[in-house]
Parts: sequence; C-alpha cells; structure tokens
Amino acid sequence: MYEGWKRFLRRSRRSKEPQDTLPAAAPGLRRVAAPHAGLCAVTDFGLGRDHNEDAFYLSDGDDLIIVADGMGGHRAGEVASELAIAATFSFLKARDGAGQDEDASRRTLVDALENAHQAVVRAALGHDEWSGMGTTFIAARIEGDRLCTCHVGDVRCYLKTRDGLEQVTTDHSVVEEWVRRGELSREEARVHPQRHEITQALGKSTRIRPEVSIRTLEPGDQVVLCSDGLTQPLDDRQLASSMDEGGTVEDVALRLVDRALEAGGEDNVTVVVYEYRAEGEQDSRARRS
Ligand code: MN
Repeated sequence: MYEGWKRFLRRSRRSKEPQDTLPAAAPGLRRVAAPHAGLCAVTDFGLGRDHNEDAFYLSDGDDLIIVADGMGGHRAGEVASELAIAATFSFLKARDGAGQDEDASRRTLVDALENAHQAVVRAALGHDEWSGMGTTFIAARIEGDRLCTCHVGDVRCYLKTRDGLEQVTTDHSVVEEWVRRGELSREEARVHPQRHEITQALGKSTRIRPEVSIRTLEPGDQVVLCSDGLTQPLDDRQLASSMDEGGTVEDVALRLVDRALEAGGEDNVTVVVYEYRAEGEQDSRARRS
C-alpha cells in the first residue's frame, strides 16, 4: 500500500493532474491515536511527501500535548521533532503542573523548551548527517481549568469556545512580522512566497524566545494543536466551519486533516483535538487502548 501510494504520487506529479483527483486519504500513510473520547491525534504524510517529519505526543493523564514539525536533510527532521518531544516530556514529568501559579507555569514551560532546544543542538553537533536540523514546537499543558501553551515557530493552538474559534498562538514567521507592522494584510500573508519562512525553531536558531499563552477553559471547549500542514492550505474561516460541523473529537480531527488534503495540502499535516470536560466527567470517561 505504502509503495503503491508513492508511485501514485510520482505519476500524478508527472502528469500534472488537477489536485482534486487525488484521493483525500491514503491508507497506511496516516496515523490516528484516540486514547479516549475526549482526545484524538491524527498525522498524515500529506500529498507531496514520502515521509513524515511531524510528530506528536499525548500524555497518559491528558495534562500534556505536544506537536512538533521537524526540518533537516537526510530525514534529520524526524530526529529533531522526536528528540525535542522526548526531551520535553521527560523534563516536565519531573515537574507537576498542578497547583502552581501562572508565573511558575510560564517559567516551567519556557525552561522545558530551552532544554529541548539544547538537546537538539547537542545531537546535531555530534552527528554530521544531522547538522542544521530543527523543529517548530508547541507544548500545551492542562493544569486544572488552565490551558498553558508554549511554542516556537508556526505550529499553532486554536481554542473553540461558545464564542467561536480563537487563534491562541502567534506564528514566529517572517510574514507574521510584516502583518504586525501593517506592511502586509492577513490574506496577502497566506499566499506570500515567503510564507514558509520561520523566525525561530528549536535546534536551529542561535537563541530561541518561546512564547507562552494562557487561557481558562470551560467544559465543552475544544483545544486544537496543529502543524502548518493544516494552516497553510486552510484559512481560519475554513477551519472554523470544519469545526462547526461537530461530531466527536475524532470526527473533527479527521475532518480537518481531510480538508487540508482536499485543498491540495502537500506538507505533512498533524492535528490534535482535545475537549475539556468538567472534573467528574473527565474521570468517568472510559479509556480505550
Ligand atoms: Mn510543516
């Protein structure tokens, strides 16, 4: 199945078939993790890649979710994203987020990303074939009803509440800087040739400046973490309408990935959807393995 799909991609590229003739999903190139009814992660190769440098992590207690989008030659991107995730969860495992105040939460997450950055830098220094590897990165911690995210690069967090869909994070990208300075409109930024240029990544930048965002969650709120493979092909309006179609978190996550591919998404695409429940409800949820 896997080899067949790669041949199909090569053939369709050569013949320049319109993108809407490509199947929305290629079985075998997609991985779905749904540990229980309130959490689902989907990662897909995308229509133009023969390997996946995105990675995600879901902790057992739902208190930590990570999405990373690696980059680097000779598949070093896969090493960078997996390595940064491993460094972060082992760093945070030793530091329980529950009960700490907002400032402590901020500091802990920034320290965790600094630590992951150093881990990727050190690994790259030790292996010639990994030189220049890096990863964009977002870690979200759920501490009671507090959502705490920390990111570097253009991976994003969205929060869907009764009031609508809010983009929680700001991209660390060249076009985002221009939008902020009023030199480019949001719509111009989406199609700009430099839209893929990020201003910082773990392992790549000399210095990183991880950015923390904090929100208070209400039962029923949905948190989405995603790589740019979702948000390059889809704008916020398309994301919001896809989410409004409802269903389980698994339905939502799969639908978002499908929409990115239907829109011609070439890049690896990763989406995690988490639904916040009231405390009692959280505990009574049946776990699937
Ligand atoms: Mn990407």
